[in-house]
Amino acid sequence: MKEIYFLRCRECGKKYPNQPQSYCEECFAPLEVSYDYEALRQTASREAVSRRAFNMWRYSEFLPLPQGFTPSQPIGGTPLVKSRKLGEHLGVKNLYFKNDAVCFPSLSFKDRVVATALAAARRFGFETIGCSSTGNLANAVAAQGAQQGFDTCVFIPADLEPAKILNTAVYGARIVRINGNYDHVNRLCTQIADKFRWGLVNVNLRPYYAEGSKTHGYEIAEQLGWELPDNVVVPMAGGSAGEVLRRSGHRMLADRGCGETGAAAIYTAKAEHDCPVAGDRESRRRAVCSAPDSRIRRLVGRCFGPGDH
Ligand SMILES: [Zn+2]
Repeated sequence: MKEIYFLRCRECGKKYPNQPQSYCEECFAPLEVSYDYEALRQTASREAVSRRAFNMWRYSEFLPLPQGFTPSQPIGGTPLVKSRKLGEHLGVKNLYFKNDAVCFPSLSFKDRVVATALAAARRFGFETIGCSSTGNLANAVAAQGAQQGFDTCVFIPADLEPAKILNTAVYGARIVRINGNYDHVNRLCTQIADKFRWGLVNVNLRPYYAEGSKTHGYEIAEQLGWELPDNVVVPMAGGSAGEVLRRSGHRMLADRGCGETGAAAIYTAKAEHDCPVAGDRESRRRAVCSAPDSRIRRLVGRCFGPGDH
């Protein structure tokens, strides 16, 4: 049976067969998973989704899963909580929080992306898996790696506080401290993935890893009665969550008739002292001021910190 997903370069559009690779050989831009949308239209429906257990696997047609894939455990399916008091305080009528702090197994959003990455790792026959990390991702990889019987090795900056990877140690993963910052760790991991044929979830398995983020958007839409929110504020780490939500999740929901409205506006937020995505202070100010709704400007402004709105 022909596969309905493949890899494609985000910039030049070159297509690649499914393989553990994250960049285009022609232009070095990132690869992302793309789908045969016509085939999806034949197989996916809101009714079929609604009959399944409420976790991320209920959207399996929209995920890059191998044929015959069986999930090892439920992941996702987290609550969407309406915040009345904070909404009143900020002047936002309908403010919700998607609470992935109760996502199993490691109580983090990262459980979703690790789940799709490890499905790909199994498909490609990797025995050793791992990641570069500064905490949450290592814990999620260690938890699912242990459960699925992978040899697991995580790479972290040497000066990372021990508390951040306590769970990783409990799950029995090997922890390798690298003398350098997170960029150095990532660079080393790229070389390790190539040399030893290891499946590193946010390196050579990154296109499949990123797809797990979409389930966050699918759940939000479904919990709102298959309506897309007008605005979404995404706390940013490396950029994956917001980018994938924007490019794939909401767009695909709308294309498939699962969402009732057009694409939501996506805003990203980071702590002011650690904001490589938005760049310098002036860029952040412009980004905040470009928000179309004054209430959202205030909310996003608060996320960026005082003085930026
Ligand atoms: Zn390219």
